[in-house]
Amino acid sequence: MPDALPPVDESSLLTFLADLLDTPSPTGFAEPAIELTEHAFEKAGEATLTRTRKGALVVRVEGQNSDAPRALTAHADTLGAMVKSIKKNGRLALSQIGGYAWNTIEGEGCTIFTNAGRQIRGSILLDKASTHVYGAKVSESPRNGETMEVRIDEEVTSADETRALGIDVGDFVAFDARVEITNGFVRSRHLDDKACVACLVSAVQSLNRAGLKPVQTTYILISNYEEVGHGAAAGIPQEVTELVAVDMAAVGEDQNSDETHATLCVKDSGGPYHYNLSQRLRKLAKDYEIPFKVDIYPYYGSDGEAYWRAGGNIAVALIGPGVDASHSYERTHLKALIATTQWVLAYLLN
Ligand SMILES: [Zn+2]
Repeated sequence: MPDALPPVDESSLLTFLADLLDTPSPTGFAEPAIELTEHAFEKAGEATLTRTRKGALVVRVEGQNSDAPRALTAHADTLGAMVKSIKKNGRLALSQIGGYAWNTIEGEGCTIFTNAGRQIRGSILLDKASTHVYGAKVSESPRNGETMEVRIDEEVTSADETRALGIDVGDFVAFDARVEITNGFVRSRHLDDKACVACLVSAVQSLNRAGLKPVQTTYILISNYEEVGHGAAAGIPQEVTELVAVDMAAVGEDQNSDETHATLCVKDSGGPYHYNLSQRLRKLAKDYEIPFKVDIYPYYGSDGEAYWRAGGNIAVALIGPGVDASHSYERTHLKALIATTQWVLAYLLN
């Protein structure tokens, strides 16, 4: 066991994270984020980069040994929507991608990606948004697919005019991330799971700068379909002997996790994670004095479980930084990102 972990470059971690957060990548349309991540791994150091046929990124980092290869995974896809229909007034109804409450996107700016490659801006609002027109109905209306709509920033008042812009059913809609970094806090949509993608890039960069190799050859799968439940169901190479999923920790009332720690999740909606692998990660965090918590997430599934449900027959564990208001306007802290990166480094080196 090395005495100390190599240093983490905080500024390049945050710079890449902000770039990634600003790159729209709703599930099914995550290629821009996968590509940005691919370039980041290329710059981070020695690794072999490939893509699965499903479009996920696989990074292979050569280890000191390769008799028991390992894998880590994080996902680059995010929540989003598709155009469900074009309304008579030219506004858009949405079909959700991923699991979130409609009220969490109310008032958000968005981009619609047309078939022809145009990007059209708009915002997501209640259909009865104006207090001066609808009075109490504004607060009383339920927020759902029937009552929420996209107001596009184009002079349209009919469905035909909207269609003439090239907008059609099935166009992807990405929500503005609204990234802001203040006092170490990173506030943005989609920290789930771009925060962890950035931690993995940062860990590989740290290793390479220190001239170190992981103890075992390690694959990093950056998946592109996690938010709909089957991201890492495919893509983990057959030879891998254990898997650590790296994904956000759920912060809230009665939760152990917080924004300044990394968390070992021992159980979520899919049941307990693998005991022995979890114990090893817990010991590594203690040995290296990494600020960590242990927690259970009540409404949560991960790519680790997607892999297990698809028939994966190896130990799976889950770690990640505490993220407040997950699947809403999220926030974490640099301390949690560093802790997560250090934990990944400790795992790679032991
Ligand atoms: Zn996630």
